[in-house]
Amino acid sequence: MLERAAEIIGQAEVFIITAGAGMGVESGLPDFRGNRGFWQAYPPYARLGISFMDAANPVHFERNPAFGWGFYGHRCNLYRATIPHEGFQIIRRWIERNRADYFVVTSNVDGQFQKAGFSEDRIVEVHGSIHHLQCLKPCSPDIWPNQENISVDTVTMRSLSVPACPRCGGVSRPNILMFNDWSWLPERTTAQETRFEQFQATLGDKRIAVIELGAGTAIPTIRATSERLGWHHPYATVLRINPREPEIMAPHISLDCNALEGLLKIDRLLTC
Ligand SMILES: [Zn+2]
Repeated sequence: MLERAAEIIGQAEVFIITAGAGMGVESGLPDFRGNRGFWQAYPPYARLGISFMDAANPVHFERNPAFGWGFYGHRCNLYRATIPHEGFQIIRRWIERNRADYFVVTSNVDGQFQKAGFSEDRIVEVHGSIHHLQCLKPCSPDIWPNQENISVDTVTMRSLSVPACPRCGGVSRPNILMFNDWSWLPERTTAQETRFEQFQATLGDKRIAVIELGAGTAIPTIRATSERLGWHHPYATVLRINPREPEIMAPHISLDCNALEGLLKIDRLLTC
């Protein structure tokens, strides 16, 4: 399976990277899967009995903005401080060596692909980005870069300040699709999706490697995207790298390991 993966990567003229939460783990980012993972990363929420789904809810910005911003401010600081793991650079090297074109589709809101040097106009962030803000109401369709410095009291998980909407002066929030979210502005993501559709229309009969990394079945958006690409394009092969849920139908292939581990293994085969 590994040899076949290396062959597909070696011959690819186009790379489409589809990434889920598992892509961040080896950069040291917490895994929110299940209450245990979430509470290990955020013990204050364990004390309060608040799950990830409870915390990632726009209701906090309405009722108690400092509490809403506690969670997102803390995560924003964490993502800004994180250095993307070597797997990101391995993929960039493959793209360069094959002189291939690429696109990234990620459910992560952490901006790690941009940080690793992937081009802003070659990325779809299906759930939005923590590095962009919008008005909570929202009073306008504006989405703007997040330049706020948010300090968080890690005992109470409350932020010491609440970023304001520059238009109405009300509360702002991250432009991230949360749970039970009726006010998320999708325009930035929609524009990214349009660019991705235009990109796909140019692919013709090029050999496409779809590399799916750490996308679980709990929120299946990314897996569905990989599978759709695999069936839709006659010369596309999906390589699913996933330590727990690697299943995919032939001719697509899978590796049952972590994202970085899988990328390193293939890279070793390609360079030896
Ligand atoms: Zn506003």
